[in-house]
Amino acid sequence: MKAWKRIGLMGGTFDPIHYGHLVAAEGARHSFALDKVIFVPAGRPPHKSARQITDPYHRFIMTELAVASNPYFETSTIEVERPGYSYTIDTVRQVRELYPHTEIYFITGADAVLEILSWKDVDELLEMCWFIAATRPGYPLGNLRSRLKGKIKESQMERIIPMEVPALAISSTDIRARVREGRPIKYLLPEPVEAYILNRGLYK
Ligand code: NAP
Repeated sequence: MKAWKRIGLMGGTFDPIHYGHLVAAEGARHSFALDKVIFVPAGRPPHKSARQITDPYHRFIMTELAVASNPYFETSTIEVERPGYSYTIDTVRQVRELYPHTEIYFITGADAVLEILSWKDVDELLEMCWFIAATRPGYPLGNLRSRLKGKIKESQMERIIPMEVPALAISSTDIRARVREGRPIKYLLPEPVEAYILNRGLYK
């Protein structure tokens, strides 16, 4: 097995995946010299009810379609196949076993990272990996740090790195609303993902 030095884990519900996610992952890969980025669609996010989100099967296929053209991107079924809630610590532990001497960078949205104190085994999690918190335009970068200040240790704060991603003006919530209302989603996400959504009648 090739000895990877740094891998990114792109965690999200991806309902659906869009160009904002892809730009964030590619930006992180470049900025942090990641050898590859593995997209990990959440199977059953702990903070959402099953009714709120699309079947993991569809979200995983859309993620596969979206990353196919980038040789540095892969997908993993690790969370989709694991029974029960998709806790990030369980994923990072599994990935750590597969890649023992590799730095792990967990990339996700800043809003999700703001809730990290409520995540399972957060102290161990922040020891095991770095967090890249992708922010949307207009989101003050200092905000993340100031909102976590005093709640987590300084050494843990250093593990969380904010990253501004202008393309995150695109959002999954907006895409779902557009489909529901019959407005266009073209150019917001890769064409094969758009075709999949329309052919399967998702988000109607
Ligand atoms: P969310 O609440 O749906 O998303 C929060 C915000 O972050 C949204 O604005 C979302 O935009 C954005 N976002 C989500 N993933 C992103 C990504 N990879 N890159 C850039 N922006 C992203 O959060 P979620 O997607 O369900 O959860 C995010 C990750 O945190 C998942 O991997 C989840 O498993 C993990 N998590 C773990 C725990 C735990 O272990 N206890 C608890 C909560 C979340 P879009 O809607 O446009 O994506």
